[in-house]
Amino acid sequence: MTKPAFSFEFFPAKTEQGHEKLLSTYDELNKLSPAYFSVTYGAGGSTRSRTLDIVQALCARGDTDIAPHMSCIGDDKSEIAELLDLYKSLGISRLVALRGDLPSGQVDIGELPFALDLVKFIREHSGDHFRIEVAAYPEMHPQARSFELDVDNLVNKYKAGANASITQFFYNADSYLYLRERLEKRGIDTVAQPLVAGIMPITNSSNLMRFADSCGADIPRYVRKQLADFGDDSKAIREFGFEVVYRLCERLISEGVPAMHFYSMNKVEPNKRLIEALGLVHQ
Ligand code: FAD
Repeated sequence: MTKPAFSFEFFPAKTEQGHEKLLSTYDELNKLSPAYFSVTYGAGGSTRSRTLDIVQALCARGDTDIAPHMSCIGDDKSEIAELLDLYKSLGISRLVALRGDLPSGQVDIGELPFALDLVKFIREHSGDHFRIEVAAYPEMHPQARSFELDVDNLVNKYKAGANASITQFFYNADSYLYLRERLEKRGIDTVAQPLVAGIMPITNSSNLMRFADSCGADIPRYVRKQLADFGDDSKAIREFGFEVVYRLCERLISEGVPAMHFYSMNKVEPNKRLIEALGLVHQ
């Protein structure tokens, strides 16, 4: 069976110390030979300089592809065009294109209100230079008017030029498989334009619940209940979390998932452990 490709997501650190630590995390995870690392971006430009700093530092550090995330809500086309040109000049050839969520208090949605508009704009401005990944939601985006309209939106993003999509994290493999089937029925060739599984390792109960609530990801009851039972026993949470995510990945691999994108949370251990246990490291 072909092993899926894998990649890691980082978020920009807030302090100089955090930035240095992230570089050493990169060095450790890079030894596993991932396909690429992506770096998140705060919508409305809230992490613009920090995202740029870490993207530039990572580009200078190794030869693994770096994929900056770009969001469009709240930004002008001119700001986005400037960033695209800068990324091109840095030798970047891959982007994760998102709408983003406006920081609270900010109301101006800007000239490109949806990720679909951003994908179209990138293709207009930069042609086929960038490989574009977009976001996908196996359990539906929380603001979508219906599941069907959310699938329409994803199909439209592929048709506008997205090369692949990366899912929000999920712990129910059937939700991923169902979305993949829906895309295929809508004429998307998921071999040529893959649906990449977004994988969130479980290491901390309260953070996980917070993320899940904010992005509409479902934590199955058997997971939620046991995490609650473990209280602050972090070792028990890590062991149980490893088992849950390992099983999820195993199932996805057996179902032919083409690639997995790990929400690394800027950590080495939980990601490395999963990748090694799943036998994903290419010799
Ligand atoms: P869209 O695809 O534009 O969809 C947003 C919502 O609008 C959906 O509910 C959709 O159904 C609906 N919609 C689409 N078109 C229309 C229309 N014409 N009329 C009405 N409704 C419509 N956020 C960040 O700020 N920075 C990041 O770096 C970041 N990285 C992410 C990486 C991944 C892999 C994922 C899955 C999410 C990431 N996010 C990030 C979060 C993302 O920005 C939010 O989920 C955001 O709310 C939606 O972004 P989107 O690109 O999916 O938007």
